[in-house]
Amino acid sequence: MTQPTPDWNPSASETQSKSLAEGSHLSSRRSDHSQSLSYQDSYICPVCRHGQISALTLMDAFACNFCRHIFTANLANQTVQVVDSSQPLSWRWNGRGWQSTHRDDPSLTAVVWFASIVLVLLPAGIVWLTSYLFPPLPGSLWDWFPNVWLGCTFGVHLLMVSWLLAEHYQIPIYVASRVRLRDWMGRR
Ligand SMILES: [Zn+2]
Repeated sequence: MTQPTPDWNPSASETQSKSLAEGSHLSSRRSDHSQSLSYQDSYICPVCRHGQISALTLMDAFACNFCRHIFTANLANQTVQVVDSSQPLSWRWNGRGWQSTHRDDPSLTAVVWFASIVLVLLPAGIVWLTSYLFPPLPGSLWDWFPNVWLGCTFGVHLLMVSWLLAEHYQIPIYVASRVRLRDWMGRR
């Protein structure tokens, strides 16, 4: 469709010079291990980093055999974009591996981080404040309770926030374990 783009960095200053070096190696075919993106080959899935993506028959798209995500491909730019996801994630193939090219929506990322910080600090802060204002009698049977309750509150909310961030950033190990869990539940 279009000629291969010699410019590997259309939006300059975003990618590191390391990837630029790899890109020029690829175009000059100096490295025999590098492999360009084509519909004849399969590649490790950029989402779950576990399955292999290969071309769908008669379509300009790839699909993962593990997490089942579907990707549209742009062979001229050596990029793929996931289509069945809430976020427009995309990656560039540099000959050996994937390199993320998407930019997170800054306002969404800010909201996620703000909610995370509030969710971790506020409930634990309230528990701490009550135990500070109304401390148990020293030496009483339950004087250990406020600290344990504070630890539980903090731990549980930290767990919730970790899930939120793993979902937002689509962390590969999280995506892979979610797929495994879904398969395991489906088999029962
Ligand atoms: Zn996958």
